[in-house]
Amino acid sequence: MQRTFTHKAVFSLLLTLMLVCSGCSASAQSPVYAVSTVSSSIGFQRFSRTDLNAFDTVITLIGFAQDQAAFDRAADRAFEKIQSLDHIFDGYNAYDGLHNLYYVNHHAAQEPVEIPEDLFSLLSWCKEQWAAGRRETNIGMGAVLSIWHEYRTAGMQHPEEAKLPPMDELIAASEHISFDDVVLDRSKQTVFFSDPDLKLDIGAVAKGYAADAVASVLYEEMPSFLLSLGGNVYAGNAPLDGRTNWAVGVQNPDITENGTKEILDVHDKTVVTSGDYWRYYTVDGQRYHHIIDPETLMPSRKMVSVTILCESSILADFLSTALFVLPYEEGRQVADSLEGVEVMWILPDGSVQATDGMKDYARSMKAPS
Ligand code: ADP
Ligand code: MG
Repeated sequence: MQRTFTHKAVFSLLLTLMLVCSGCSASAQSPVYAVSTVSSSIGFQRFSRTDLNAFDTVITLIGFAQDQAAFDRAADRAFEKIQSLDHIFDGYNAYDGLHNLYYVNHHAAQEPVEIPEDLFSLLSWCKEQWAAGRRETNIGMGAVLSIWHEYRTAGMQHPEEAKLPPMDELIAASEHISFDDVVLDRSKQTVFFSDPDLKLDIGAVAKGYAADAVASVLYEEMPSFLLSLGGNVYAGNAPLDGRTNWAVGVQNPDITENGTKEILDVHDKTVVTSGDYWRYYTVDGQRYHHIIDPETLMPSRKMVSVTILCESSILADFLSTALFVLPYEEGRQVADSLEGVEVMWILPDGSVQATDGMKDYARSMKAPS
């Protein structure tokens, strides 16, 4: 299947166009994004590069370097890594000789499949979360998610015929979503499905994993950077233009209002938002988005957006999906139990909740100085 640009990607493209003209203010784009300012740095200049060819989204790298050549060297390495991960994590296309997600989903029930290190690491990380009881984000839920994907895609193409997936089909698929049936062998670097009907869908964590991997490349290569991979932002060292932080905007889910709900001032942190307003379709006037509660097998309606701020983008991505599914009180307990993780919830009534530490970063929550 050919992958197509999502809604989100198109809006992100607008964002990117805005970012390259310095001095622009932030407006409606992707769930989280860099808020652009005019830059002036001593010895370092600000450069940016945008890529539209990976992860079905717009990827923007902003970095400070001494000259264009230095920036290009670093950016080439970063975008090579992104491209390689895009192929490894691609669940829709096969590539010659590559045991990527697509290959795994088609072969791992027959025999253990040897997989690239990055895919193995992502699966092992998710397995640890599963073993620890964090199961609201379940990447073994591909059998259920693919049904929703099919109905959503059809409903977006032909809105007048949009339908909900039949519940009995979803329930039958939900018999095959136990991550216990994903068997990993570290010594051989293989994955095997002990349930032949299980499928993986790594959409909830793939961009987070990629953001971490690319950030480690960029830390080696650039004195300061900001990477935006759709709804995942990784802010490296403080920008070299006199500011002490990068400004990361959190999209206002209510698109009839101002585009920015909150600005987070951060460096050496990742900011990831899951929202209900990017990928959805409409059936009988009701919106059905893309984050599915494993308990009800339906899109969760408890939140409209959840933003996670911490140092690990895979954790932030995983938690943004998990806390989107959990009621606020339960999500708050999870957040409070995790050191270095701050969360901002936007509830369906428009109210905002946040962990105590979020006030150190969120402009509207900071105590006046
Ligand atoms: P986005 O991809 O828009 O940034 P998320 O990180 O929240 O948003 O991931 C949503 C994607 O994850 C969906 O498109 C789907 O592929 C998958 N997904 C949806 N619900 C779940 C869930 N409960 N557990 C694991 N994956 C999910
Ligand atoms: Mg996520």
